[in-house]
Amino acid sequence: MSDLKGKKALVTGAAGGIGAAVVRALRARGAQVAVADRDVSGIEAEAHLPGNLLEAAYADGLPAAAKAALGGLDIVVNNAGVITRGKVDETTDADWDLSVGVNVQAPFRICRAAIPLLPPGSAIVNVASCWGLRPGPGHAVYCMTKAAIASLTQCMGMDHADKGIRINAVAPNEVNTPMLRTGFAKRGFDPDTAVAELGKTVPLGRIAEPEDIADVILFLASDAARYMVGTVVEVNGGKPVK
Ligand code: NAD
Repeated sequence: MSDLKGKKALVTGAAGGIGAAVVRALRARGAQVAVADRDVSGIEAEAHLPGNLLEAAYADGLPAAAKAALGGLDIVVNNAGVITRGKVDETTDADWDLSVGVNVQAPFRICRAAIPLLPPGSAIVNVASCWGLRPGPGHAVYCMTKAAIASLTQCMGMDHADKGIRINAVAPNEVNTPMLRTGFAKRGFDPDTAVAELGKTVPLGRIAEPEDIADVILFLASDAARYMVGTVVEVNGGKPVK
């Protein structure tokens, strides 16, 4: 994979499972990283930009804040996300606002603000989900938000490639992160046992670790993916959602 030495990157959801792995991987390859999350204390990075992505002014201002803090901006990873469970008739207004706000509106705001700031040769990587491509049961609004960010990625990829900005997405299936583990715990399952059982349903024999997703995000952010635009790359261990 191409070296990312000297590249300046913004990562949202940097305190979470996939986000933390992306930050570590970017820094290991020589990039300087601005981390965004509600609490970024204790994360090793070149710039810390804590805040709530549901606040429009914070999301709108993140790319400029990262550029100012790092002295440039070449890579944006829209990774922050929330999962709400339930069918539509079980979904509250609060669930809707949270899911759409974090999973769609915040990356829309960040992309809109970043595009004028990004130089030719730069990249945005959004984190969608296999469930955005083929929905699973009982998570209607989450699946819809992930379909929305996948579609927005395809549109933005086409629309901004002429500026030398490549915009792509990854679509993971199950990943061993706090998002998945707390979901098991809430439903009364032991997370370690549930993760091991779920792994048996994956052709590769295990669910993804955050690093498995981070490596694909870094590939898409790097010059090795220089001819990829508007793609949504599934990372699923051979287990596509039916
Ligand atoms: P995670 O819960 O470990 O991390 C998500 C991070 O987003 C958290 O650190 C959280 O604080 C941050 N965040 C949420 N709401 C925020 C807000 N309002 N303001 C600022 N930060 C906020 O989850 P993860 O599994 O690492 O998920 C990362 C991405 O991967 C998400 O977009 C998720 O939808 C996607 N994804 C995860 C899985 C999985 O199985 N874990 C599968 C497919 C897609």
